[in-house]
Amino acid sequence: MISFPVNQHAIVIGGSITGLLTARVLSHHFEQVTLIERDPLLDRPEPRRGQPQTRHLHGLLTSGKQILERYFPDLIESLVAGGAVSVDMSQVTRWYILGDYRLQYPSGMMGILASRPFLEWQIRQRVTALANVTVLDRSRVESLIASADRSQIIGVKIRQHSIEQRSIEQRSIEQPQNDLEPNSIEPSPPARAAQKTLMADLVIDASGRNSPAPGWLAGLGYAKPPETVVTVGLGYATRIYRRRPHDLVGALSLITSPDLPHHQRGGIAFPIEGDRWIVTLAGWVNDQPPLDEAGFLAFAQSLPVPDIYHLIAQAEPLSEVIGYQFPASLRRHYERLNAFPAGYLVMGDAICSFDPIYGQGMSSAALQAALLDDLLHQSIAPTQLPRLFFRQAAKIIDTPWQLTISEDFRIPTTQGKKPLGTDLINAYGSLVQQATHHDPIVYGAFLQVMNLLAPPSRLFHPKIIWRVLKAKSEARFRSQT
Ligand SMILES: Cc1cc2nc3c(=O)[nH]c(=O)nc-3n(C[C@H](O)[C@H](O)[C@H](O)COP(=O)(O)OP(=O)(O)OC[C@H]3O[C@@H](n4cnc5c(N)ncnc54)[C@H](O)[C@@H]3O)c2cc1C
Repeated sequence: MISFPVNQHAIVIGGSITGLLTARVLSHHFEQVTLIERDPLLDRPEPRRGQPQTRHLHGLLTSGKQILERYFPDLIESLVAGGAVSVDMSQVTRWYILGDYRLQYPSGMMGILASRPFLEWQIRQRVTALANVTVLDRSRVESLIASADRSQIIGVKIRQHSIEQRSIEQRSIEQPQNDLEPNSIEPSPPARAAQKTLMADLVIDASGRNSPAPGWLAGLGYAKPPETVVTVGLGYATRIYRRRPHDLVGALSLITSPDLPHHQRGGIAFPIEGDRWIVTLAGWVNDQPPLDEAGFLAFAQSLPVPDIYHLIAQAEPLSEVIGYQFPASLRRHYERLNAFPAGYLVMGDAICSFDPIYGQGMSSAALQAALLDDLLHQSIAPTQLPRLFFRQAAKIIDTPWQLTISEDFRIPTTQGKKPLGTDLINAYGSLVQQATHHDPIVYGAFLQVMNLLAPPSRLFHPKIIWRVLKAKSEARFRSQT
């Protein structure tokens, strides 16, 4: 086995949120970090081919925001200076769910509303400014390099596009796209690209949902991770509009949740930088919102309440409608593998790609990056790191995974292994949601769980159960009088 001086060089595959945050963490523990991204990384906020999802609305949960602030202390200030909107989400959101609006009250849980490319660009600027981080864009990792006995990953083989190839690719990403498959657009085959070998003592795979890690592992003689798939058939459609100061009265953002299982359509309108609205409509069971103007408006009008319709019917559109189809939530159980090579980890969407409607992917990635930081501070032996990381990452993923798939299983056509007790949890969950129409204590507990600041068990605290049942009897009383 080839051995390296410990913590000399780390490689991160993928320059999205997981990759950027991980590179930032590793820059404290390694002499050199190389971040490898197959897309061209432009010095401006721009959606990229490798991430069609970033054209759609992205909410950042409080847990994710707190971790970003920890690693990039001036980030939020800079986002706000650039036009992002910092708000107490429960205070400013007119949020319809299950028959009524949630209470609008100051929970103190602050959110930052910005487009995903703007957020990512702000983070990227800070990572590229780190003296010991090198970013190789337009470079695709093609395979891992393992030690002779295959017990350790010691590097990667990459293909770097030539200047000519880069300019073709750059032009093509500047064309508007309609992305109806997750990560469906692969960069064109590198006609003139150089192959290179990079050696490292830690390689992190942050290459997203379509990560090649399972195939690479199998090629080295390891088992592939077992997968859990929950098929939802979610259709997204997003359009940007001009925002005027008084578009809404008494609120700064709108959320209309679907009344599952009977009504399977929802939508969100968030203010973002540049005095714009980003409006995403969603339909379950392959009910893709139409991409033409009239169809998009009609879909908005068909939501349980027409708040978003009233907003966009008056607003000036600034973009086409862009579509996206999310077939299924996908979880890869690396924590269940008995053997895994040292010097290699898989993180972010490459481990778990959640139903996006609950906005948890970036925050789950941030929590995983913070976990890696903690483990590296403990100087754990390289052979032990994968086992410890995957076990603890699985605990991080458990909460958002349970929240999303429970909701998805409200729809009878959802396919996948339904965990025991889901219907009971959903019945109680509906009562919790209805209690948030009036009760700030229940709403606060729900927000803690939703923002990945507390486990779901917080909602089963006797005080919360009592308040939820009280809210139910008060609602019955109100409906009778
Ligand atoms: C429609 C939609 C809406 C979403 N909304 C939200 C939301 O509101 N809030 C939220 O928190 N999350 C949301 N998410 C999830 C969020 O986008 C991801 O969790 C987040 O981007 C982190 O993913 P990642 O960095 O692990 O992977 P990705 O963002 O998929 O990035 C992977 C990167 O790796 C690169 N790459 C891939 N293969 C290679 C290779 N071989 N070599 C080099 N580079 C490679 C890709 O080009 C890409 O840049 C949403 C997802 C979808 C699909």
